[in-house]
Amino acid sequence: MSHATLKQLSDGLAAGKFSSVEVTQNFINKINNLNKSLNCFISVDEARSLTQARTADALRAAGRAQPLTGVPIAQKDIFCAQGWLTTCGSKMLSNFVSPYDAHVIERFNQTGAVNLGKTNMDEFAMGSSNETSFYGPVRNPWDRERVPGGSSGGSAAAVAARMAPAATGTDTGGSIRQPAALTGICGLKPTYGVVSRYGMIAFASSLDQGGPMAHTAEDMALMLNVMAGFDARDSTSLQRAATDYTADLARPLAGLRIGLPREFFAQGVSADVAKAVEAAIAEYKKLGCSVVDVNLPNMGLSVPVYYVLAPAEASSNLSRFDGVRYGYRARDYTNLTDLYQKTRAEGFGAEVKRRILIGTYVLSHGYYDAYYIRAQKLRRLIAQDFTNAFKQCDVMMGPTTPSTAFKLGEKSGDPVQMYLSDIYTIAVNLAGLPGMSIPCGFDGAGLPVGLQIIGDYFSEARMLNVAHRYQQVTDWHMRTPKDIGEGVSA
Ligand code: GLN
Repeated sequence: MSHATLKQLSDGLAAGKFSSVEVTQNFINKINNLNKSLNCFISVDEARSLTQARTADALRAAGRAQPLTGVPIAQKDIFCAQGWLTTCGSKMLSNFVSPYDAHVIERFNQTGAVNLGKTNMDEFAMGSSNETSFYGPVRNPWDRERVPGGSSGGSAAAVAARMAPAATGTDTGGSIRQPAALTGICGLKPTYGVVSRYGMIAFASSLDQGGPMAHTAEDMALMLNVMAGFDARDSTSLQRAATDYTADLARPLAGLRIGLPREFFAQGVSADVAKAVEAAIAEYKKLGCSVVDVNLPNMGLSVPVYYVLAPAEASSNLSRFDGVRYGYRARDYTNLTDLYQKTRAEGFGAEVKRRILIGTYVLSHGYYDAYYIRAQKLRRLIAQDFTNAFKQCDVMMGPTTPSTAFKLGEKSGDPVQMYLSDIYTIAVNLAGLPGMSIPCGFDGAGLPVGLQIIGDYFSEARMLNVAHRYQQVTDWHMRTPKDIGEGVSA
């Protein structure tokens, strides 16, 4: 059962093969077995999850089940969930029990899905390895000495280790796609504005976007059907006609034009990653797709532009954590300023402080024009590159990451090296485009490689179709790491 896809669980529940209580208990058992060694979950609340499962079984008995009713899904600990500890991976929120639900959580609740627990993440989603979490690093189930990627590393590793059939993530500069690639699962960052950010703890508001992480494109389509949609509480949420993301999955790919951005295949990408990605593109040619070289001339600027804009927004967003209203508060203080200073000095970790310092600097009088405004202008050029390239192709493909999973500690002492692990994902956030990673092979050491698929604005349904057809003729997405146990079979 724990090796089943969401679709298989959904079908099994509908056919009465098992109940939601049985499915949920099965995954809770897997979490209890593996969480000590992998550290994927920050909180698990067995009683709460099982109550939701019983409610789901009752809904089904009453004939009111929807596709994800009764299916357990792990939630990144960046999503506020009423009654759940919601930490965002930080000491600052280590005592914060959310009084309300994020839009995404509300949607899953309304459909009768079960919240399986809150997953570990880099502190305030700042990181690419999960090593900045106050709750300690997550281990990659393919090699426990290696990172699962970040910041949605807990979600990615939980799905890869079959502790959850699927999970949510958020992606500001790559945090869904990069960990998906490093753990051999699928992840989709939708077009900016498709998934409401209400109740999703803010890092860099103009870049943050929530999305699904699962084993198959079909599972991600089922999740996006629940997660996407207008929400008046997020002023950047887009009002669009509802889409059924599963409707076009099986459409043939003949005639699809795949753009290969030259910048993605330049030096810097490891030989094993390039090989797996090229093999995937060859597979697409067999499916009737054509390939065209495209250019993204300003791609090289995306990491520096991001590391001006994201910290600028973060420095503003994180000013709310002051020890007064909620979260951590320093014990000994003499006056209000001292309370702020000590709370923030003690409550935030090193990477978060680094970002606040950079952000405050680039927004300060005298530097604002030189850094922030300039970065905004370059962001526009980066977005324009994609618009131009999409005149020649329907989707773009390339590697998600330059290398496979790196060792714990390998990059944590060198922020710039860490930042460069998102070199292929960040431009997509700056442009607000949808991006996806799907498994496409393994390197010589048996570590998974991710294929990145980038679509034009609002082309999620087409991208899921592109991924689904590939998954019909390959089985990379169904491979499992050793030593994760079998669970009870479906
Ligand atoms: N790794 C990038 C950062 O540290 C992106 C993180 C994210 O997408 N949340 O900012």
